[in-house]
Amino acid sequence: MGDAALRLGIDLGGTKIEAAVLDSAGAIRWKQRIASPQNNYQSTLSALAALIAQARREIPAARQCAIGIGIPGSLSPHDGRVRNANSTWLNGQSLQQDLEALLGQHVRIANDANCLALSEFTDGAARGAQSVFAIILGTGVGGAHVANGALAGGANRLAGEWGHVPLPWMTSQEFNTPACWCGRTGCIETFLSGPALVKALNAGGSAPVRSVQEIVHRSEAGDMHAIAVLDRFYGQLARALAMVINIIDPEVIVIGGGLSNISRIYSEIPKRWSQWIFSDTAVITRLLPAQHGDASGVRGAAWL
Ligand SMILES: [Zn+2]
Repeated sequence: MGDAALRLGIDLGGTKIEAAVLDSAGAIRWKQRIASPQNNYQSTLSALAALIAQARREIPAARQCAIGIGIPGSLSPHDGRVRNANSTWLNGQSLQQDLEALLGQHVRIANDANCLALSEFTDGAARGAQSVFAIILGTGVGGAHVANGALAGGANRLAGEWGHVPLPWMTSQEFNTPACWCGRTGCIETFLSGPALVKALNAGGSAPVRSVQEIVHRSEAGDMHAIAVLDRFYGQLARALAMVINIIDPEVIVIGGGLSNISRIYSEIPKRWSQWIFSDTAVITRLLPAQHGDASGVRGAAWL
């Protein structure tokens, strides 16, 4: 017997794929997380199909349920193919068509930052706000804009693509950052992604780290290089968000993705962003971590 109230959400990230079955109250009935296949579209398709098959096997009531998938990048309004994904092997692929053929059912696909925004303004940290900017700081960097209580798509379905605008108020040193995978230079993603942060630390000559969490541990243990790398990161994030406030002035900015777990972001950024914000009064914008944390992307995908 199918249960129409169940929904299956999938968050297809650059590092991991997370799937969850939610009931109508938003409670997670089942979830699974696997590593994302790298540089291979067919393996990515197979991994998605296998996860969905597992969900259907373990939660028989979810066999017919709606499926929503959050992806880095978005579907082109012209031909429905994936574009703008930092998991570049997805770009140019007919992901929706291919998955629907594999599964024999309709799927909805949306940008991962849009999924985060949907989750957080529906029943998360930005609940009740009319204007929200949601960002993902993870393997990639992206954003989504909620205006007048609804997700803004945009004429080119690009609204909120904050990761691929240049870091504002760059220092001369920052001008020399290597090109982004998108082909341009100076993109915010090349400064604020997890891999960018790890690379910045490993360029300093101390013992290499593999994760952002290790950088945080080192800074808390008093490692001066880790402290300096994080300090520069806070300054860059403050500038990048001040620009958002100067343009759309949202009530709330919500952060998701792996780096949203760096708890000092929420005290350090508001201390620094005022000097870049075009206002003569105190900045009242709230900067908050995603209430549903790592699960927010998958919840937003399920709400699609
Ligand atoms: Zn770029």
